[in-house]
Amino acid sequence: MKFSLSLPWKILGLLSGFFLLVSALITNSWINKNDQDFLNLQKQLRNQDQRQLQVIDELLRNRIEAWFEAFVHFQKNYGNNIEATAFFLENEFDFLQLHWQINNIWLFDNQKKLYFSSSASIPDELQSDVIQTFKQQRSQTNVRCNPVCEQFFSIPLLIDQKEIAVLAVSNSLQETLASLNQATHADMVIMKMSGKQWATTPIKELDIQPPIAASQKLFIIDLFNKINANISVENVIHQGVRVGNNQHTYLINMLPIRASEQSSHFLTFIHDITESSQLHTDFQAKIIWVSITVISLSFLAFFVLTQRLQRRLLSITRSLPLLAEKRYDDFQHHQYISSYFFTDEIDNLQESATLLCHELESLDRQIERNTRELENIAMYDQLCGLPNRNMLNHRLKKSILALAGEARQVAVMFLDFDNFRKINDSHGHNIGDSFLMEAARRIKETINKSDFVCRFGGDEFVVVLEDQESLDDVMLIAERLINRFHQPMVIVGQRFYVTTSIGIVVTNNPLDQVEDLIRQADMAMYTSKDRGGDRYSLFNHEMYQRVIGRVQIEDEMREAIENEDISFALQPQIEISTGKLVGFEALIRWHHPDKGLVPPDEFIPILENSENMIQLGYWGLRRAFIILSKMEQLGFKHQRVAVNLSAVQLLDPNLLPFLKQLLIDFNRDGSQIELELTERTVVADIENTLTIMSDLRKLGFTFSIDDFGTGYSSLAYLKQMPVDIIKIDRSFISGMTDRQADRQIVSSIIAMIQKLGMKVVAEGVETLTQLNMLKEMNCEIGQGYFIAKPIMETELYDLMPDMLKNGIWDNMDKV
Ligand code: C2E
Ligand code: CA
Ligand code: CA
Repeated sequence: MKFSLSLPWKILGLLSGFFLLVSALITNSWINKNDQDFLNLQKQLRNQDQRQLQVIDELLRNRIEAWFEAFVHFQKNYGNNIEATAFFLENEFDFLQLHWQINNIWLFDNQKKLYFSSSASIPDELQSDVIQTFKQQRSQTNVRCNPVCEQFFSIPLLIDQKEIAVLAVSNSLQETLASLNQATHADMVIMKMSGKQWATTPIKELDIQPPIAASQKLFIIDLFNKINANISVENVIHQGVRVGNNQHTYLINMLPIRASEQSSHFLTFIHDITESSQLHTDFQAKIIWVSITVISLSFLAFFVLTQRLQRRLLSITRSLPLLAEKRYDDFQHHQYISSYFFTDEIDNLQESATLLCHELESLDRQIERNTRELENIAMYDQLCGLPNRNMLNHRLKKSILALAGEARQVAVMFLDFDNFRKINDSHGHNIGDSFLMEAARRIKETINKSDFVCRFGGDEFVVVLEDQESLDDVMLIAERLINRFHQPMVIVGQRFYVTTSIGIVVTNNPLDQVEDLIRQADMAMYTSKDRGGDRYSLFNHEMYQRVIGRVQIEDEMREAIENEDISFALQPQIEISTGKLVGFEALIRWHHPDKGLVPPDEFIPILENSENMIQLGYWGLRRAFIILSKMEQLGFKHQRVAVNLSAVQLLDPNLLPFLKQLLIDFNRDGSQIELELTERTVVADIENTLTIMSDLRKLGFTFSIDDFGTGYSSLAYLKQMPVDIIKIDRSFISGMTDRQADRQIVSSIIAMIQKLGMKVVAEGVETLTQLNMLKEMNCEIGQGYFIAKPIMETELYDLMPDMLKNGIWDNMDKV
């Protein structure tokens, strides 16, 4: 875990560390310098002590030499020989002792023999002094402490112009010490150390030597007791030692004055340096105080300075989360603390944050706008402004779930326009779009406000009815919608007649799935279309089965075409008056590998409008040409074959080139091929159908209208078309024997057709009675089981020679 420490504190910490270091360094160097100064002062004192000692020593020696020379000179007046000198010295010894502080006198003759002595003994080392003096003929000076320290002089004397004698004198050190005291203002004491180990012997172990006053001795003992135990004699000789005692500071210096194997003697100077020491410590204290003050003041200054920095930074820190929370207004009203005089990085930061705020705000708005647009695109149809399929899913799901525990029902209506494609194809997409917009408007105004309509895609709309109490209400609305579209639609001045097919599914099961309901309504809609459109159908499960079956059949048919599991059965058509064969109608047969022979009624309606149907149709047309060729090979020339043409096939743009190619391939004209169209096929797209028909007619093909009477076209309508034959539906023929009305209808249809210059074929002639009636009615051609059942192509070629005698089918002339 990391602890947080605010930036100003961090800066403060760093700076204080730096300042502490700097001031410690400065203070330290000042103190060092001061210490050095102080030590220098001590050194100066020591040097001064040494110099003074030398000066005074020299002075005294010179004085004594001068004195003795003068003394000996004067004594020559009494006798110029060594006896006289000795005598003189003996007589004047008291004087010398008193005034010259002479302790003892020794006189040596030129034989280095003691000639005179004031004392009974001769100090040991004096002998060597004397020998040296004889040898060098120069005076010698030495300090001897035995036990009291004295100064010994050995002076060469010239007696009687020829004889050298040496005078040795011992002199108390008192005068030297007094003079030094005067010169250096230091207390003076001689100290003795046993042995020669200066470096290891602590100064405390030294003995004080006489002469010394008792009071002074006590003071010195007291002082030396204060000296640190490990300070050695050598330390003091080289550096001196500083000692504090009774609020005074003393500097102790030592000068060796006498050293031998057994002991060393030191002249010890005790300087009172209280004043300079005081100055020294005062100065150091001052330095430390100054540093402490400077550091404290800097701390304070930095603290004050960074306090504001901290507050400014904190202010930004507090404002930034507002951006994350998208509280842009609060952010803009946030009060920043700016710098007093000069702008700095924090000001820049504040500016950047403000900029960021504006940028984020506009970005956010943009995102909101885009999201709304996307939602719109995702949920609404851009053309009609109606909710789209996504919205439908969402809405319908909610409606279905809301059914739980309620005695309500939801109806889904699938609405599709019959032949909307035609408008699009022939008038362009702009007209198509306008049509859809108008259609959407019509649907919306026809249903209740509380109901829901969406554009499902293309020309498909889905209406969800939630508030209809009964199925009747639902059907009423479906009827209203169908009727509303009976009124022509006017688009850019053009009138369009378009009908609708509606499929309806109703549910009260909250567990139903949206996709299932829509699919079911769609199936019901297709049923409406299959039944001719312009109607509504309620979904039932047979529809579902049919759809399943259709899918299966479509798959199987694809294979059947590939494997040639299909063939034609040919049903003869005869001229009723003569019994002459006029041609055959080719009727498709499917030899299903499992189901056996499947009648066309079971798959043709299912394949209707599919790509398979077109493929099947092309197969049939080619087969018809083959049949004609085969019959010709058998000698039956000028036969005719009627082929049933589905609506999709007629409208297929490949039909014309395909047939043209067949004419070339089989080297014949179209007159032997009759194309059967149902009324519905013809009516569906009149304009296109008309052009196609006339184009085909130019190639010689003839046209018949199949199942006449079952559709809704009128003969007047068919009159404008290049139709040669009308085939009266077999329902009329079969009713003819029982019902007078049917008989009437058939006879009047036949009359009218003939009036219009077309021929009539009566379909489904099953009995002789029917045939006779038709003969009476002057019906030209007959087709039906009574004449012949459809004959499989494979059997036909063998049968034909037997059945045809002089062009007459199977003794029909006898009928
Ligand atoms: P359709 O064009 O009306 O054909 C005549 C139907 O009536 C044939 O049924 C025929 O077997 C049947 N039929 C003929 N005489 C009689 C009779 O005396 N009594 C009765 N009850 N029926 C008779 P099929 O072969 O089952 O064909 C049914 C329908 O399938 C045809 O009706 C036609 O619409 C369609 N179809 C057949 N072959 C083709 C084809 O190659 N192409 C297309 N598009 N449709 C075909
Ligand atoms: Ca037919
Ligand atoms: Ca027919």
